[in-house]
Amino acid sequence: MKTDVQIAQEANMKPIKAIASIVDIPEDALELYGNYKAKVNVDAIEKLSEKPDGKLVLVTAINPTAAGEGKTTVNVGLSMGLNKIGKKTFTALREPSLGPCFGVKGGAAGGGYAQVLPMEDINLHFTGDIHAVTTANNLLAAMIDNHLHQGNALNIDPKQITWRRCLDINDRALRNTAIGLGAKSDGVTREDGFDISVASEIMAILCLANDLKDLKVRLAKMIVGYTYDKKPVYASQLEAVGALALLLKDAIKPNLVQTIENTPAFIHGGPFANIAHGCNSVIATKTALKLADYVVTEAGFGADLGAEKFFNIKCRAADLKPDAVVVVGTVKALKKHGGVAKDALTQEDLKALEDGFGNLQRHVENVRKFGVPVVVAINEFPTDTPAEVSLLTSLCEKIDVPVILTQVWAKGGEGAIALANKVVELAESGTADFKPLYPLDLPIKAKIETIAKEIYRADGVEFSSKALKNIQKFEADGLGALPICMAKTQYSFSDDQKLLGAPTGFKITIKDVKISAGAGFIIPLAGDIMRMPGLPKVPAANRIDILEDGEIVGLF
Ligand code: ADP
Ligand code: MG
Repeated sequence: MKTDVQIAQEANMKPIKAIASIVDIPEDALELYGNYKAKVNVDAIEKLSEKPDGKLVLVTAINPTAAGEGKTTVNVGLSMGLNKIGKKTFTALREPSLGPCFGVKGGAAGGGYAQVLPMEDINLHFTGDIHAVTTANNLLAAMIDNHLHQGNALNIDPKQITWRRCLDINDRALRNTAIGLGAKSDGVTREDGFDISVASEIMAILCLANDLKDLKVRLAKMIVGYTYDKKPVYASQLEAVGALALLLKDAIKPNLVQTIENTPAFIHGGPFANIAHGCNSVIATKTALKLADYVVTEAGFGADLGAEKFFNIKCRAADLKPDAVVVVGTVKALKKHGGVAKDALTQEDLKALEDGFGNLQRHVENVRKFGVPVVVAINEFPTDTPAEVSLLTSLCEKIDVPVILTQVWAKGGEGAIALANKVVELAESGTADFKPLYPLDLPIKAKIETIAKEIYRADGVEFSSKALKNIQKFEADGLGALPICMAKTQYSFSDDQKLLGAPTGFKITIKDVKISAGAGFIIPLAGDIMRMPGLPKVPAANRIDILEDGEIVGLF
């Protein structure tokens, strides 16, 4: 069997100018990064705002295993399938972080015959957006520490600085650090730490901003810490906004690439979905909607995290109205939800599949609460047996949700034609009537409880005293009307990653509550969520290599 890199390298890429012309992006709106990547200067596409929007399709999934269940793969495959049935389609995805790339997961540019290209670049430095975010984040950190060193006119309490440094590498040793060691001239000594760059508030802002002006407004509102008398200190008070915005001037422009079948794709912005909101940029999604009949986009991890935040945070902030949702399910993950051990997932087990089905059922019910029609895509793996696929199909039929066997990994767009037809039927049925789950003017606690009860199906929420204190502080500071961005494990509906399937009879514990006032959300921490991952015992980095002839191996 060919690896993803081999398939990608054999693909017939077209020059990016030809891809742009498919969706009428004029050449003078392109900023070329070689022959196959370009940034798109959105302002240079004339009369964009007068064009009607295409249909917006979200791809989400059940609670995944550590390997992922194939949202990106199905997303890419579906966009190629839609093209095959005559719909002009744009794929809109996130940029992969280098952390997971060299850690457990390998790349994140799809798989098999459903990939975005050039995958080597997309998975690595790409057009430098994540580096720009890292640099902007760390410039602000340097300005904070310099402010302390230069007399601290703002009266910032070094013990209450919430802004952390960042790096786009899984490096557990940087989670907790001490800085300013040494002489007086070496700065103020304090504890600090690093988050992975894709967890930086600046990444979330890049993805939620409507334009450069909005980007600056949001950067100004970022809270970096608190004064000795507990008042929030904003990035604007450090006079950092202009420099940060300048560092992001190219990063804010969507990156145009193509799928393996030459479908236009924007790969832009990459916030994590367990600690941030997990969607690609608003600018890319909105621009794509103006340029195509259909836009297919992904939200990270399972629908309890990704879809919920896509709807309640991104769609609300950007006034987007999704027309259809694809929930990706796999036989292997449902068997895991039914109690099968990780190393036995490739063996047929109908009973476990049936036992684990509740996980998929709950996600389908949840998505329907947002008023958008749903189809289940069974992402077929080589190890699925015909009996398993047929059982999963009939279980879906029993709960009255359309279900389509999807073979994009093995067959590309051809394997998604049935799914594409169903998506078009749903999107054009006019049945979508999107509404968020909660109004913004509810108290913070009530918003968190709504998500916990309606989406996770928890009996209730327990707040630590620290969490309650912070909620009070945010409401007193006038920041209570923001949406919620839950930080929770992706493996379970609950906050316990071992509680698989469709658990009931549990409570969610909120240990702490943070805020990203610039991005515009409140972050309750349900359990210990890592903002800086570590590498596994045998990281993907051990297998990745570039040979003397330039061939790249080990990226997948
Ligand atoms: P997600 O976006 O949900 O995290 P990905 O699309 O990145 O998942 O897929 C995760 C991994 O599984 C990738 O390495 C991909 O190549 C592989 N994969 C996805 N779908 C299939 C499939 N149908 N058969 C085999 N491997 C697959
Ligand atoms: Mg993905």
